[in-house]
Amino acid sequence: ASEEDRFVEQHPRSAALAARARGGLLAGVPMPWMTRWPGAFPVSVASASGGRLVDVDGHEFVDLCLGDTGAMTGHALPAVTTAVAERIAAGATAMLPSEDAAWVGEELTRRFGLPAWQLAISATDANRFVLRFARHLTGRPRVAVMDWCYHGTVDESLAVLDADGRVVPRPGALGPQVDVAETTAVVPFNDLDALERRLAEGDVACLLMEPALTNIGIVLPEPGYLDGVREVTRRHGVLLVVDETHTMCAGPGGATAAWGLEPDLLVVGKAIGGGIPCAAYGVSVEIAERLNGPMLGHEIDVAGVGGTLTGSALALTAIRSTLTHALRPEDFEVAVPLAERFADGVAEVIAEHGLPWHVQRLGCRAEYWFCPPPRDGAAAAAAVDEDLEGLLHLWCLNRGVLLTPFHNMALLCPAHTEADVDRHTEVFAEAVAALT
Ligand code: PLP
Repeated sequence: ASEEDRFVEQHPRSAALAARARGGLLAGVPMPWMTRWPGAFPVSVASASGGRLVDVDGHEFVDLCLGDTGAMTGHALPAVTTAVAERIAAGATAMLPSEDAAWVGEELTRRFGLPAWQLAISATDANRFVLRFARHLTGRPRVAVMDWCYHGTVDESLAVLDADGRVVPRPGALGPQVDVAETTAVVPFNDLDALERRLAEGDVACLLMEPALTNIGIVLPEPGYLDGVREVTRRHGVLLVVDETHTMCAGPGGATAAWGLEPDLLVVGKAIGGGIPCAAYGVSVEIAERLNGPMLGHEIDVAGVGGTLTGSALALTAIRSTLTHALRPEDFEVAVPLAERFADGVAEVIAEHGLPWHVQRLGCRAEYWFCPPPRDGAAAAAAVDEDLEGLLHLWCLNRGVLLTPFHNMALLCPAHTEADVDRHTEVFAEAVAALT
């Protein structure tokens, strides 16, 4: 209660804005996840720059949330904001390609290895287009996903396995608009036998997966698992879609480049536009050859993919300037050691207190768990302790450190400093001492 009181006392302007917003916005926020922050209301942001965020009450935070990866590069990189501002002044959208388009296609190809790209507004949007392609190309009805995955608000992916192994809507998700038992196959992460058995049924168009689960804490693939997935999907004629939206934290070409993956289709969103809404999806040579003719030529109606603002001049400039000035090897060389320092600091505190907790890291991102490392999504979901998370995050927030509240996530960018990381360790240590 004292942490709640402290929060309310420290944020009178955010409180007033939140009260006012309840008059015009559903739940008082522009997007429902913003209600997931601890405290009686979310703080309102005044500005954010690099690894810092300032709220409307003048508090400065070490921002380890970074827009839940939307600002993985760090906020408001000067080179990006200049390029984007100039682009807006020169016309943000025209339903025609701008001069950045060719560069964007070449750069995405260079980073991720796939030869042909399309743009989307968000990763959710890109995933929806990719599923449409996969069903069109294979003539099969179902999409396979990992148990407790998250790929945005794509209906088919809002599915989990129940205790009897049946495919059911994901708990807590606003009802999928399709019958997931009809559209979706769900398999546990890190279980090749289960994947083999399910794909052998012959009705799956594609497997949509993250190379490591990142939305229920980080669950890393076991050695050989991803090679096995590639082999099994190929053997059953199932297209492999790698969703790199979060695993972009693994390096300049995501986990695909870092771990030598060979997806048929790849989706990447959020970070590549430096905070401007955009995403991209790429396809293999074989798929490009098939799609370039009948699907994306002028012969047939292309309704079903793309949209008015997809591939806008603004999005293309955002991607070009972001990938020119951020998420490069030299940026990861700074951010990854910071994430290592973060994980080491957390691990030390956990060990000092003899807790069964665990910290997991992937590239410049780290997350901590209140249990030993889970092997799959169901085990990870069972270990979530929302009450403890809420207490910990409120404690950190009251002391100037923001983490992503829903899964104890910290993302490090080149603008962060060792002192920022150490500040988190200090606050985390105090919280653990007080709360456990
Ligand atoms: N794919 C993955 C792996 C994600 O984690 C998310 C969102 O967290 C999405 C897709 C959807 O991204 P967006 O909400 O920007 O559409």
